[in-house]
Amino acid sequence: MKCDAKDVFRLLGLLGKFRGQVVLSILFGFATITSGIGLMGTSAWLISRAALQPSIAVLQVSIVGVRFFGISRGVFRYLERLTSHDVNLRLLSGLRRRVYDTLERIWPAAVLQFDSGDLLSRATADVDLLENFFVRVVSPVVTAGLVTVGMGLFTGRFSTQLAWVLVSGLLANGLLVPLISRLASRKSRTTLPALRGQLSAAISQNIQGQRDLLVYGMQANRLDQFKKLQQQFETTQINLARREGLSEALNTLLPNLTAFLVLIVAIPLVVNGQLEGVLLAVVVLLALASFEAVAPLGLATQNLDLSLQASNRLFSLETIPPAVQDPTDALPLPSGSVSITVSHLDFEYPSEDTEVLQDISFELSPGKQLAIVGPSGAGKSTLINLLLRLWDAPPGTIFLGGEDIHQYQTTDVRHLFSTVSQRGWLFGRTLRQNLLIAQPDAEDGQLIRALEQAQLGEWLDTLPDGLNTWLGEGLKISGGEKQRLMIARALLQNRPIWLLDEPTVHLDPAGEQQVLDMLEKTLKGRSTVWIMHNLVRMENMGEILVLREGRVIERGTHASLMELDGYYRFLHDTSAGR
Ligand code: ADP
Repeated sequence: MKCDAKDVFRLLGLLGKFRGQVVLSILFGFATITSGIGLMGTSAWLISRAALQPSIAVLQVSIVGVRFFGISRGVFRYLERLTSHDVNLRLLSGLRRRVYDTLERIWPAAVLQFDSGDLLSRATADVDLLENFFVRVVSPVVTAGLVTVGMGLFTGRFSTQLAWVLVSGLLANGLLVPLISRLASRKSRTTLPALRGQLSAAISQNIQGQRDLLVYGMQANRLDQFKKLQQQFETTQINLARREGLSEALNTLLPNLTAFLVLIVAIPLVVNGQLEGVLLAVVVLLALASFEAVAPLGLATQNLDLSLQASNRLFSLETIPPAVQDPTDALPLPSGSVSITVSHLDFEYPSEDTEVLQDISFELSPGKQLAIVGPSGAGKSTLINLLLRLWDAPPGTIFLGGEDIHQYQTTDVRHLFSTVSQRGWLFGRTLRQNLLIAQPDAEDGQLIRALEQAQLGEWLDTLPDGLNTWLGEGLKISGGEKQRLMIARALLQNRPIWLLDEPTVHLDPAGEQQVLDMLEKTLKGRSTVWIMHNLVRMENMGEILVLREGRVIERGTHASLMELDGYYRFLHDTSAGR
């Protein structure tokens, strides 16, 4: 993978906010390793010196030194873990918030480009991968650099030759081994996160589509595909583990080899009197101990690559343009009932190059009942999505109270509408929480009234915990009950304009009549857009638009359209004959 310096700086930029803690944690890391080196050095000196049987006073300082370094090593390690994990957890929670904000901003545009499982993997696994960036990349690299320079200077005081041997060993272990291992495992590292995304997408699709897989007997087939993907994932992981094993082996070999070379170089120095005899064991053990600083660098390179890939996948989400843009100086919404004017509206989804809506014009004056009918795929839901500003209509095509819809804040616009959608979602929460998303400050009495209005009163009585009953993704709820819950939500919203996208689609004929009676009563005097598949009660509509392939092919009242004897009459008669 291309390791772009810009990407590394962008990742480092994430740490900017925690500069103080980052420096502190690196200093603690450095102090931990120097304490380890100091412990080895003073112990070696103590043992060598004690062998010459000096007076205890000579050994006193080194005994205190051993105690000091032994204790301080543990204390510094503890402080280092405390500060580095604190930085890490703050970094992660900030990142999660940032990814969630991004997803919210780019939805639904992102849904077209990514599988939901892939999005989930970005928001969870990729964020988690970045956990390693500071603790396992930045901190070890800086500490290793400091220790290498420090040890080079320290041993250089005894002999330049000694310093070169030690620094070369440290560089070989800290730079050469990770570099070779990185080159060897390049392919596996690039494919691993992508495979993880595919695996997570496959799992989420298989779970969501399980019913169809069972009905069509395709579980075995899907399982085979899944196993193949899993196999690929495992092979890639094994390849990576092999490279890791190799660098682990070199990590053990190089420190011992260097210590041996230090010994070879140091012995003649002792013989020549350039180095005191008691220092022979000291330099060898110091050399050995200093490798603790470079040992994590192999893992650091791998983690850097994984972090870069994860961050690229996360940051690439931020480059997706949002489906809707808010104006900088938004107009306040006019109070009371607002008229909606749609004028020569053409629309195509960004991912497609065919127009889904062409030259649509209509007026929804306060109190008007407008029906939009037509076959599936005609563009009816798209029209609703544009009114709700889930997608942006071209400027100058939709007006609220005479002003372009783009002049208002998206959230203000959405607050104008009560909606019943076919794709309403039930969250894995209690019934109360599922209703409160429509009106967060509603009292229980209001929730119960809305449920009763939506003819869910009896159903509520059968629930074991009433409003506290836990609802899952459609769990134990029939299509009709879910549809009624969506209606109850719309009733709670109680907004001036209603958008009803096939509000009775999952109801039986008797239930449909009851719900339509209730809606008609409730919506008297309120502007309403009815999208209807089943053409019932069309006589009550102020205007009916017949949409086909994105165009209005007929329009008028029920009586005039029946008289026209065109496509509307055909739809009406087929719908009545069902
Ligand atoms: P209806 O509600 O009348 O059944 P829709 O508005 O859902 O029709 O769809 C109209 C057309 O737009 C269809 O051809 C559909 O495939 C397409 N479409 C709907 N949603 C999207 C989307 N998010 N991205 C691309 N095309 C879409």
